[in-house]
Amino acid sequence: MTAQIIMANLDGDKTWSLDSYHKRGGYEALKKVLREKISAQQIIAEVKKSDLRGRGGAGFPTGLKWSFMPYQFPIDKYLVCNSDEGEPGTFKDRDILRYNPHILIEGMAIASYTLGVKTAYNYIHGEVWDCYQRMEEAIAEARTAGYIGKNVLGSDFSFELHNHFGHGAYIVGEETAMLESLEGKKGQPRFKPPFPASFGLYGKPTTVNNTETLSNIPYIALHGGEKFLALGKPNNGGTKIFSVSGHVCKPGNYEVSLGTPFSALLEMAGGMRAGRKLKACIPGGSSMPVLPADVMMNTNMDYDSIAKAGSALGSGAVIIMDDSVCMVRALERLSYFYFEESCGQCTPCREGTGWLYRVVHRIEHGEGRAEDLDLLLSVADNIQGHTICALGEAAALPVKSFVKHFRDEFQHHIDHKSCMVPSSL
Ligand code: SF4
Repeated sequence: MTAQIIMANLDGDKTWSLDSYHKRGGYEALKKVLREKISAQQIIAEVKKSDLRGRGGAGFPTGLKWSFMPYQFPIDKYLVCNSDEGEPGTFKDRDILRYNPHILIEGMAIASYTLGVKTAYNYIHGEVWDCYQRMEEAIAEARTAGYIGKNVLGSDFSFELHNHFGHGAYIVGEETAMLESLEGKKGQPRFKPPFPASFGLYGKPTTVNNTETLSNIPYIALHGGEKFLALGKPNNGGTKIFSVSGHVCKPGNYEVSLGTPFSALLEMAGGMRAGRKLKACIPGGSSMPVLPADVMMNTNMDYDSIAKAGSALGSGAVIIMDDSVCMVRALERLSYFYFEESCGQCTPCREGTGWLYRVVHRIEHGEGRAEDLDLLLSVADNIQGHTICALGEAAALPVKSFVKHFRDEFQHHIDHKSCMVPSSL
């Protein structure tokens, strides 16, 4: 078994099946944990050693998150897998659900065993029905084989796993909005604290982890945290799936070691379209700051390096823009997304995202005013840090970074009522 999560064409169209997963050493980690009765403390210690960080966006250390759960107390607790992948540019988790669902089921079983959870949910984004169906088939296989249900593999560990199909709202990817939605309520984020580890699903202690994060757990349980860490670099353990989209020749998911140079990843994705140059890249999904080409070409793909460069690794969605892109138009599209997806609970986000979109829209359409760039930055400042959840930041950060790195393009639109990018698509 390797740390490889993406399993493209390994076993034809049966890659997802239990047979195929068994051939690759699947479920050996769960068997080992149950056979050797490895304690929760030991597993959490290995996950901490691995430097596995949450793959959904925030990059929070997984072992530390698990240690917040009162796993030793015999009360109801829940594990929720966040498969509500809705960040523009991100399409990695759906490939895990489609092509390697058993690695997630095994990861969730080990996590549930560790955290003292008897019932776990996998919340799947409401626009990928085929992934939901595939997960249902995989869960049925796992149940028949004794990996889910009462007394898993004859042990005293019992665990149930249910899929839940969402309705496609971006905000439900925020963990507390997801819990609200699972409870049958409107999917809106909760005030924090309390955090889910103490007051989560149905008011019970809950851990929410991303699909890719949980899919790394079998490797760590089987081979140990140090081996996983060695696949990446300190504080950035393991491999990471990057969803590369935009103006490359071979867009797709690429699983590489954390710390891989951006230039190498770009090469794997087939390089830039013929005759075009890299202009900008959003390295972690549409909510993260954009970086210009020269900065990206000297950056490695890991949490710390990208933070040092002025952005964030986020969900690992690498959006490539070549020199045909008008940055004003690109920001207009992004701003519209956040305006549409704001849940409307807090005023700075509800009103501010509308202001951001309308101002960028008028700049793009030749109606920009001299004061608009200052206005944009002021609205972004007034959103940032003043909202219940991170969607406010997600709307503000792209605006600030686009204006910071490509101010001349915005100014040209305002001054000349036209675009300075001649071949803008
Ligand atoms: Fe809703 Fe936006 Fe407030 Fe988040 S920041 S709770 S999305 S209004």
